[in-house]
Amino acid sequence: MSQVVDLLHRYVYPVLNRSAALSELKPSDKGDYLALTCPSCGKRRAYIYKTGISIGCNRKNKCAYHKSLWDYVQERDHLTPSETLHRLVEDYAGLSLDSFSNEINLNKVNLDNFSSRF
Ligand SMILES: [Zn+2]
Repeated sequence: MSQVVDLLHRYVYPVLNRSAALSELKPSDKGDYLALTCPSCGKRRAYIYKTGISIGCNRKNKCAYHKSLWDYVQERDHLTPSETLHRLVEDYAGLSLDSFSNEINLNKVNLDNFSSRF
C-alpha cells in the first residue's frame, strides 16, 4: 500500500497533467495553481495547485469542497482503485506502469480499499 503512495509521490504526481485530468472543470492557468469550476457548488472558486494532489473550494463558509485528486477521478469515472491507478499513471502522467515493475509488484498489491488522501 505505502509502495503505491510512494510511487505516486515520487513519479506520478510530479508530472501528472492536472489540466487534462480535470478538463471538465475548465481549468485556467493562474500561475501556481489552476482555477476550476467547483464540482460541488458550480462556482469558479475551486482550485488545484500545479503540484497539488487535492481540489479545494475557496467558498469556505458556503461550500468548503475538498477532495483528493485520486478520489475525485475514481468517483467521477466509477473506477476501481486499480483502474484509478492506471488512469493516473498512464493516461494523465504519461507513464507506463510496467516501467515500475522492478520497484513494485502490482499483482501482489491489494488495492481494494486503497484511497490516496496524501
Ligand atoms: Zn464550491
